[in-house]
Amino acid sequence: MPELPEVERARALIEEHALGRRIAAVDDSDTYVCRPHAPGEIAAALEGRELVSANRRGKAMWCDTDGGVVLGLHLGMAGRIVVDETPATNGWDRFTLLFEDGGRLALRDKRRLGRAILDPDLGGVGPDAALISRDAFRERVGHGGAPLKARIMDQSVLAGVGNLLADEVLWRARLSPLRPAGELDTEELDRLRRELRAAIRMTTRRGGVHTGDVIPHRRRDGVCPRCGADMARATIGGRTTYWCSAEQSAG
Ligand SMILES: [Zn+2]
Repeated sequence: MPELPEVERARALIEEHALGRRIAAVDDSDTYVCRPHAPGEIAAALEGRELVSANRRGKAMWCDTDGGVVLGLHLGMAGRIVVDETPATNGWDRFTLLFEDGGRLALRDKRRLGRAILDPDLGGVGPDAALISRDAFRERVGHGGAPLKARIMDQSVLAGVGNLLADEVLWRARLSPLRPAGELDTEELDRLRRELRAAIRMTTRRGGVHTGDVIPHRRRDGVCPRCGADMARATIGGRTTYWCSAEQSAG
């Protein structure tokens, strides 16, 4: 499932390869992926225009255009953005921009849970996990009785941390996912933010959140790749969670 690193890679791909190219045609015929728009509605707004910027907050991504409308692109559970690749023959290109120069950008999505939408609503999405300031992080994350893992995955608190990224970051910061968020001191909160930014940078560079150091060890017989202790497992905030039983004790 795409998490922040995958979305950031998609954003960077658009920024590098799709900006400033005149849109000649749009395939917005998939009424589920393009809901609530009728077929042709997104096309009418974008044809003859160019994407001028690619933006991201958490897992939400959007492109500004020279026509003033904004194109939201969501990767859903399995989607990705492809630019100038041969069209998918299996029908997985759910939304496509065709450029005047003959190239194309597609939302390629096996599971059809991604979306293309005009003027997306970003209300209720917190500050981006990769960009949030130290003070805002302390203020937003370090409150309440919710388990720390649930707190950092709350998209209204912090945008972009999914299940795998949360486990990777808490392991790096040596913090228990079960600790009440409001119990963390300033040093711990700063360390968590530092490790969060480092994990996002590292997994974005390596190709996605699955490349995190602890991710391959999230299994029932897993051991911590740092100290060799057993990995503990529980459901926290509704999600399967793994952590090092020795270094991430709840204290
Ligand atoms: Zn360990």
